[in-house]
Amino acid sequence: AAGIPILELSGLGKDYGGVHAVRGVDLTVRSGEILGVIGPNGAGKTTLVNMISGLTAPTSGTGEVLGVRLGNRMRPHRLAGAGVSRTFQHSKLFGRLSVLDNALIGTHVVCRPTFLRRLLWLPSARADERRAVAQAMTQLERVGLDDKSHLAADELSYGDQRRLEIARALASHPSLLILDEPAAGMNHVEASDLSKAIRSVADEGITVILIEHNVRMVIDTCTRVAVLNFGEVLAVGDPVAVAADPEVIGAYLGAE
Ligand code: ATP
Repeated sequence: AAGIPILELSGLGKDYGGVHAVRGVDLTVRSGEILGVIGPNGAGKTTLVNMISGLTAPTSGTGEVLGVRLGNRMRPHRLAGAGVSRTFQHSKLFGRLSVLDNALIGTHVVCRPTFLRRLLWLPSARADERRAVAQAMTQLERVGLDDKSHLAADELSYGDQRRLEIARALASHPSLLILDEPAAGMNHVEASDLSKAIRSVADEGITVILIEHNVRMVIDTCTRVAVLNFGEVLAVGDPVAVAADPEVIGAYLGAE
């Protein structure tokens, strides 16, 4: 059962000139929920999570995320500090750094890079560095990348790179994890493994918002789903019921 509200949006909207990217969104998300966000291309999914993570300022309505009010002044750092962590539709990895170093960036502990740690043969790394490495490795293990920690991020397959981004986002111990199309380019087996990993994250009490085009995966993963269409919430509720809603099928599923 879901816990306390950690995100409350009321009439939230974003206009770009004449384009209503998001309009009048009312939404409450409680701790431990996995909220799926689906909708056709251009429906406003990315704009919505950009507002929730403080990257885009709303032009109407109000919102509060983990105690931080969304406002005119963008505050991605305050939201990150409050426990919001996210991945992006397009990879933001450091290709030449190792998988472990990329995950370490997520811990926000300033660590020496792997090659330097090896080169200087540092048997006694700093305590905070050791903890950060352990934390990063735990998250790499969760997404099945622990045996590839020494590779450069560039050397990973596309699916592995998506997993690495999730591990890095988790390495900051977030309260709210936002995943923007994490299963894009993954096959069924990979998507199903990812689904399991996301549910294990939620079992630890981390709230997840999952933007995803793969409706099957949303149904298998999410506790609730919101459907966006032309910037508005068309339906929100139980994933199976929502996917069977004729209006949703007409707006989205039928349009596939
Ligand atoms: P996709 O599934 O393709 O990622 P989406 O549901 O994430 O789509 P958004 O990217 O949020 O949709 O876009 C919603 C609408 O807002 C679109 O019409 C888009 O063209 C417009 N839009 C988004 N960002 C901007 C911007 N920076 N300037 C102008 N218009 C924008």
